[in-house]
Amino acid sequence: MAREDLLRSLSRRISDERVLAALAAVPRELFVSPALAAAAYEDAPLRIGGGQTISQPTVVARMCELLELSPSDRVLDVGTGSGYHAAVLSRLCDHVWGVELDPQLAMRAARTLTRAGIHNVTVFSGDGAQGLAEHAPFDAINVAATARDRVPDALEEQLGEGGRLVVPVALGGNEHLVRVRREADGLVREVLEPVRFVPLR
Ligand code: SAH
Repeated sequence: MAREDLLRSLSRRISDERVLAALAAVPRELFVSPALAAAAYEDAPLRIGGGQTISQPTVVARMCELLELSPSDRVLDVGTGSGYHAAVLSRLCDHVWGVELDPQLAMRAARTLTRAGIHNVTVFSGDGAQGLAEHAPFDAINVAATARDRVPDALEEQLGEGGRLVVPVALGGNEHLVRVRREADGLVREVLEPVRFVPLR
């Protein structure tokens, strides 16, 4: 698929113009190996090494839309992988803190983001299921790996007032996107559409 075809197909499913512009602005081929560059605009996950995949553009767009980001937002990205999803998020907010379990992927993501001219993403290597207490609270938290049975407590705790968290959760064998919002009187959780991600480890 060509880049324009992918963007046209996304615009049929995603209505948020800022999200569409962010996807249009990020060169996905930079985030995959040169061998896969020709497939960079397929609307599919692609292998990035270590048994992991770069997220599918439609899913990245949908999750960004669900996060309802503002330009001043501080965002946590859990499961940064190639850095692609973080790059899209970075165009919709003030700063992204990325956490990736695999140190090699984390290092490569940081390099790729710099090469893409993106300077408002900081990538850490570690267990993102614990969040990143030293930079909390966050206005938005994006999780790109599936949590088992429930939303990790640490992530909900690190959501600021009015904050949104979008995370795939496996509930009884079926993975769904879950959105959590911290409102004045507590957390509101919505179970949304089915999705498929690699497991949160
Ligand atoms: N958002 C990425 C997709 C990454 S796939 C992109 O756009 O390329 C999911 C990633 O989550 C993998 O890289 C995996 O190593 C990472 N991961 C799994 N469990 C994790 C955890 N507990 N903490 C941080 N990263 C984790």
